[in-house]
Amino acid sequence: MKISVIGGGNVGATCAHILASKGFANEVVLLDILEGVPIGKGLDMWEAAPIAGSDTFVSGTNSYQDTANSDIVVITAGLARKPGMTRDELVAKNTEIVKDCTQSVIQRSKNAILIVISNPLDTMTYVAYKVSGFPHKHVMGMAGILDTSRYCSFIAMELHVSVEDVAAVVLGGHGPTMVPLPRLTTVGGVPLTDLLPKERIDAIVKRTQEAGTEIVNYLKTGSAYYAPAAAAAQMCESIAKDKKRILPCACWLTGEYGLKDLFMGVPAMLGKNGVEEVVVIKSLNAEEKMAFEKSAEAIRKIMGEAKL
Ligand code: NAD
Repeated sequence: MKISVIGGGNVGATCAHILASKGFANEVVLLDILEGVPIGKGLDMWEAAPIAGSDTFVSGTNSYQDTANSDIVVITAGLARKPGMTRDELVAKNTEIVKDCTQSVIQRSKNAILIVISNPLDTMTYVAYKVSGFPHKHVMGMAGILDTSRYCSFIAMELHVSVEDVAAVVLGGHGPTMVPLPRLTTVGGVPLTDLLPKERIDAIVKRTQEAGTEIVNYLKTGSAYYAPAAAAAQMCESIAKDKKRILPCACWLTGEYGLKDLFMGVPAMLGKNGVEEVVVIKSLNAEEKMAFEKSAEAIRKIMGEAKL
């Protein structure tokens, strides 16, 4: 199992580090255009391997040749948000970057599974899909695990319970129109709606939708990376170990949820073949369906701005 991470900035380097310490891959390669920087970071991570007890060999590079024959490629290259910016404002610049990275990757790893992280997420995943010409099951975006994890972390804080007992899913696009589903959220098997009043749930939903912006406003020079990197590593693990976990990811829809021809956050079964199944929640109510469709509209608008 060889995993390459393209873009060795905050998200990419943190993701490589998590992958290295988890130890399920034989090799992790970190690539960036900044001369020397990924090489130094990769070496630093490999020097931690004896302490972590992980035999995953990590290295950094400026050359795509070193990514050849990757099984999974995580694309994090691109600009991150600064305070006052929306994710969507990154579209033109990051389209160029993601296009360029995808072309360089696919020449050397023809059967890889691509996991896109660069923003605006749903559109950049579409760019990688179109440019690669890969089957749609081999291209996916990371956002839903992050958005769901943020939502669960806020619920655990509010109720003073273990994060392990909160079960939930956040659907839709990676932006303010994302769709947390309180009606289907449980804590130790108990419906969230039995545990918290509506106004507290609404506040948690709103905080989740703006969680990325909350962090950008604190960091000032960039956006979140610990949780995003952990989310991407979880996707890699489910694929590498063929665990077939059901995780919310940006997947190409072909009629599921009544939508097609766009990437959007839905629960998906991740295994050795990539997105092995898009899982459809049949019991969405009218309000939830409407929020999901509104989110799809927001994605299509940004997709239209990506010049391929
Ligand atoms: P960062 O600025 O720390 O790192 C980006 C790296 O990409 C830099 O090191 C830069 O040199 C590199 N890069 C730029 N052009 C490149 C190219 N052509 N080839 C290779 N590398 C290139 O930013 P970050 O915080 O790591 O964020 C990376 C991207 O991920 C941003 O677009 C950000 O918005 C996005 N992001 C998405 C999510 C999500 O949930 N999907 C979460 C966090 C960040």
